[in-house]
Amino acid sequence: MDIKIECQCGQRIAFEVEPMADGRMPVEIECPSCGKDVTAEGDAVLAAKISAAAPPAPVPAEPARPALRLSRPAAPDPAPIPAAAPIPPLAPEPAASASPPRKITKLVGDPHFGRSVLGALIGAALTTAVWFGLWKATGSTWGILALGVGWMTGFFARFIGRSEGPQMALAVAGVALLFIFGFQFYRAHAELAGWRSDDATIEKNYQEQLAHARKLVEGVPNGSDEEIREWMVKDARADGEKLRAADITADEIKVFQDFELKAARELAGGKQSKEDFRARVRQNEDLAINSVFGRIYFWVRAIGIFSIVFIIGGTGLAYRFGNGEG
Ligand SMILES: [Zn+2]
Repeated sequence: MDIKIECQCGQRIAFEVEPMADGRMPVEIECPSCGKDVTAEGDAVLAAKISAAAPPAPVPAEPARPALRLSRPAAPDPAPIPAAAPIPPLAPEPAASASPPRKITKLVGDPHFGRSVLGALIGAALTTAVWFGLWKATGSTWGILALGVGWMTGFFARFIGRSEGPQMALAVAGVALLFIFGFQFYRAHAELAGWRSDDATIEKNYQEQLAHARKLVEGVPNGSDEEIREWMVKDARADGEKLRAADITADEIKVFQDFELKAARELAGGKQSKEDFRARVRQNEDLAINSVFGRIYFWVRAIGIFSIVFIIGGTGLAYRFGNGEG
């Protein structure tokens, strides 16, 4: 017989039982959420179910109850219960009451809790996989799918586990939050990693700079002021700018000697290898990623204002579902 008990704390407990001969719960039930003994509630639910199943059950005065025998268990009870009174040696307690004692088995916890959590995990994983695929395919964030993750997490938890209540709701919401936040976090990380250039780009830049350096060293073999003036005018013209040799100041020539010429000589002369070049590029990328700007970018992407709305919305949906409101 399928029954559902609701504890005073709001936890709903669903399970299957075979009622005892007298129509009561065969085991004692403890609320998985607050620990309260809810066996009496189970007895009440069973009694209501049994009387609903057997409407012609008048004569409540008589202790003999053949009408209730309808729903007796097959024979899980070793005790033959023809009479209402239990056999004295088996019952250590003063069993003077009319109903036989329950088995001592205590049903602690929600029998469907584990399956519900499993369902939550399946629902969350499936939807997050779809989310991941959409993000990869389109490059958009699809933040709205956080709600989808929350909904599916709750739906699968209930579909597979059939458990409800505050404890279940917290567990389901936790699973949803884990997947939603986990994915946003992962995505922000991946986007930040996109700030790094790939090896092919670095190689191309290196070759370009090497070619430029060789030309510069060739054009400015001695590093004299005159050579530098000539080179700067030519270089400006190549870039489509107009620069007159007379306008170039001594300071500009000095800067050119100390930096551009020096770097070009190192590059062209093989003093700075391709590995050095790559290491310098990587170092600059690390600086950018670890900069305050990089940090802010990351956290805004991971838990920015819209992300927070979606995270809370998705987690809330899962909670409602777990609590049986969805
Ligand atoms: Zn409870």
